[in-house]
Amino acid sequence: REKIRYKTKIAVIGAGQAGLSAAYHLRKMGLSTGADFIVLDEAPSAGGAWQYRWPSLTLSTVNRIHDLPGMSFEDTLTTESQTVQASIAVPHYFDLYEKRFDIKVYRPLKVDHVYLHNDRFHLDSSQTLFSALGIINATGTWENPFIPTYLGADLFQGEQLHTKDFKTADYFRGKHVIVVGAGISAIQLLDQISKVTTTTWVTRKIPVFREGPFDDVAGHNAVAMVEERVRNGLPPLSVVSVTGLPLSPEVIAMKERGVLERLPMFSEITKDGIKWEDGKEEKADIILWNTGFRGALHHLDSVLPREESGGIVMAGRLATMVAKEPRIHLSGYGPSASTIGANRAGSVAVKELMKTLGLKER
Ligand code: FAD
Repeated sequence: REKIRYKTKIAVIGAGQAGLSAAYHLRKMGLSTGADFIVLDEAPSAGGAWQYRWPSLTLSTVNRIHDLPGMSFEDTLTTESQTVQASIAVPHYFDLYEKRFDIKVYRPLKVDHVYLHNDRFHLDSSQTLFSALGIINATGTWENPFIPTYLGADLFQGEQLHTKDFKTADYFRGKHVIVVGAGISAIQLLDQISKVTTTTWVTRKIPVFREGPFDDVAGHNAVAMVEERVRNGLPPLSVVSVTGLPLSPEVIAMKERGVLERLPMFSEITKDGIKWEDGKEEKADIILWNTGFRGALHHLDSVLPREESGGIVMAGRLATMVAKEPRIHLSGYGPSASTIGANRAGSVAVKELMKTLGLKER
């Protein structure tokens, strides 16, 4: 069957924080939805990846969700904010946001593959073929969970899950669970799971806990470090992963319960568990990998110039511009992979891309 074809100037792929921020700024520049720009999103409804977060992730257990431009998140909260599930509150906010700023999102529409033809990017999906002069890619990381390779992984007869698969701690009841990872998600899931079953916590590096709230200077340094990496064409590290672990009351309670006895990373996975370099073994029913995410960029494989390291050389004011293909911006990637970063990146990506394409503000 012939695909529906549609021509536009700028295609925004993804309608999370980064995509909506870009759409807001495109509108502010006087561009109109349809002829000038389109927003495409794979998810069934508003909310970006927040709609998939586990139910126990509430507004008091997330780091902080930054506002989108022009509309306060807090004003959209209808009930006691501390207990509101992030997977409900943020999608509600994004939905109202799309309506308020008249941002039309084509969904569910997964861009499978992007290719260049006659100097236009063609965005191929199951039923449509959009073409655009430039792209603001804002596809986040949720669709690309990362699990490191370990010897014997395919022999394991238990279950291997990733943070992305977590729904409730109850699922793990009665199983022995190896929780891998030293990030915030690892700690939060270890806390919940260790209350209903036995756990072993393993991490590659010794986790660093910090007392007191996370200050702006540390945040700025973490972002600067990731930005320097991507400007040099290295794969980014997660911004959230370099901010350290808060020594919250929950973490102190975990220490007291003895569940934070961290073991070093195992070297091998066996049929029924894990094995360390010194030959010590432990049986396990589930290995839960909280080992992060990578940019969900597979659909751009044929148009993104990659370095040998696997990274992409980024340029522009906030490092959202692909240096060797400035008609593509990656917003929410590397240094802008946080709600505040994605928010700021939207504005810069729009201005820089419009300049590259010779489009004027109206
Ligand atoms: P997303 O919200 O992931 O949106 C991307 C969108 O693109 C999705 O809707 C997806 O469906 C769509 N998409 C993907 N691929 C395609 C495709 N091929 N075609 C079409 N559409 C596609 N950051 C903070 O600042 N504070 C926090 O407290 C915080 N907590 C977090 C907790 C967890 C558990 C995780 C995983 C992350 C957290 N982050 C936090 C990071 C933060 O969520 C993201 O950096 C931020 O929301 C960026 O949004 P985004 O728009 O880049 O991506």
